[in-house]
Amino acid sequence: MRYVFMRYPGGKLKAVTFSYDDGVRQDLRFAEILDRYNLKGTFNINSGFLGLSNRITVEEIKEHILGKGHEVALHGKNHMAPGAGFKPVFAITDILECRKELEATFDMIIRGMAYPDSGVKAMHNGNDYETLRTLIESMGVVYSRTLGADNDGFMLPSDFLSWMPTAHHGNPALFDMVKKFLEIDETRLYSSAMYPRLFYLWGHTYEFDKDDGWNLIEKFCSEISGKVDTWYATNIEIYDYVKAYNSLVTSADGRKIYNPTLKEIWLNIDGKTLSVKSGETINL
Ligand SMILES: [Zn+2]
Repeated sequence: MRYVFMRYPGGKLKAVTFSYDDGVRQDLRFAEILDRYNLKGTFNINSGFLGLSNRITVEEIKEHILGKGHEVALHGKNHMAPGAGFKPVFAITDILECRKELEATFDMIIRGMAYPDSGVKAMHNGNDYETLRTLIESMGVVYSRTLGADNDGFMLPSDFLSWMPTAHHGNPALFDMVKKFLEIDETRLYSSAMYPRLFYLWGHTYEFDKDDGWNLIEKFCSEISGKVDTWYATNIEIYDYVKAYNSLVTSADGRKIYNPTLKEIWLNIDGKTLSVKSGETINL
């Protein structure tokens, strides 16, 4: 059998994405930095906080976030940690109301999320992850960022409703991770280690106001941008692409691959990069 690994659009080995929470005023300055480096990010918004003086406005989100190709995702109407001290129905209500209100406000379908606060890492009051996961999935949320570990192997998640980011931007090892990520060279990988890589950075943009944070994020964006082997995408673009890749149909002998999706899907097969166009069947 051959090793078959996903490649991002254009046959790229790596992707970079960002996830920033709470819709604070500093998001505007951060979005401008992302634009300048041709990067894409996801902004997690609390529908119940829209209109507060320390938050970005609906019009600013339309112009500077959505209008520039970034993503708006859910973060709970009132920022309630779903695993915390109330029954699952209240956690779910906070998420569902956030979804309904943001979708109505921005006239679009919104499927992404970052868990607010302690998210699903701390479970109290009879909550458990599997129950919450089932409920969250049933209301149409397809991915949600979690917290609590470093993912410095740059792996894609096996469970998108518990999507572990690579690092917070304040991680002391951040630039060691950047160096490790940039040094990954497809031509030097073992055949079983040819899997795609993702650098997923998260945080809150108000944190850039302290500890020289604006210079830190500018340095991060400068170092990680503009690479020919890297796809710069929002969280939902990565999710949708991985799901499309997972929808490929393969014959029992592995020699035919059919792409039933609307996207061109890229693969690396035993070190050779190729693509399967929408509706196409290829013979290996
Ligand atoms: Zn938050």
